[in-house]
Amino acid sequence: MHAEQPHLTQALSTPDRMPDQSEPRPLPAPDSGELRSLVLEAETRAVYQVLYESREAPLEMGEIRKRVQLHTGKANLQTDRRLRSLRTYFDVPAMPVPGKSNRFTYPLLGWKPDADERTPRTAIKASDRAFTLHAYGYRCAACGRSPREDGVKLVIDHKVPLDLGGTNDPDNLQPLCVQDNHAKQALFADHEENAEALRASMNLPEVHLRIGELLKALAGQPVPKELIVLVAREENHGDPTRRLRDLRSLGWKITPSKRKDGRRVRSFYSLEHWEPWPAEGPQAAVARLERARKRAQRLRSD
Ligand SMILES: [Zn+2]
Repeated sequence: MHAEQPHLTQALSTPDRMPDQSEPRPLPAPDSGELRSLVLEAETRAVYQVLYESREAPLEMGEIRKRVQLHTGKANLQTDRRLRSLRTYFDVPAMPVPGKSNRFTYPLLGWKPDADERTPRTAIKASDRAFTLHAYGYRCAACGRSPREDGVKLVIDHKVPLDLGGTNDPDNLQPLCVQDNHAKQALFADHEENAEALRASMNLPEVHLRIGELLKALAGQPVPKELIVLVAREENHGDPTRRLRDLRSLGWKITPSKRKDGRRVRSFYSLEHWEPWPAEGPQAAVARLERARKRAQRLRSD
């Protein structure tokens, strides 16, 4: 099953206007695409569900924990931490229980006042949409197929998803065919439990840092190449092998592996060992090592 496409459906269906300021923004239903687009981790959404269902009679933490366990079938879900993380978007105060010291209930009151800035719900502008399609020659940014020649349907995709800190800025938009768009959604759904690691690494300023920090967060596990390409956020969706070679030149040990997935052979990379980031930054360090290597080569051939 693929995660649905909350951003896009929203982008396609939301008219180009600011949300009405007079009405409070309705809370998303626990099973809605809107909530899924904000809260990637299913366990955190389960905490939201419990808060949502107990809006009329808010619960104490112990009871919330019990119900989350009932919903998910799992114990030790760090319910407190997950509830705190929901406060990025929602107003969930701790209300003292009258007459009881140090006991609180947690009512879900609504969106945080500044939630709109964190969640760009406004549609992608029609002009940005047209600009993006034109800039990519009306082709899918991943496979290069076009509606005219290949009969594919193109959708506008956020390179960095909105819920991982991306924006509606044209720099963050690209056309994808429906198939590649679904593949991307599925990839994120597969890595839901690593959402925080993805979020953190995707927003780093340099490509080596983005790839390296992702591998560190998932150290020892085989990380699919497509995930590395996504986090790398490089213009041409290029092969990440060059960047991995750069990291190896900094002393990192990254082991490749291949696995059959239906008819496709997929590539994975596991981080076995890493070095601290050089003070000058990875880009500069890699360039310096490269220059030294060339100089040594020249000396040998002279
Ligand atoms: Zn495609």
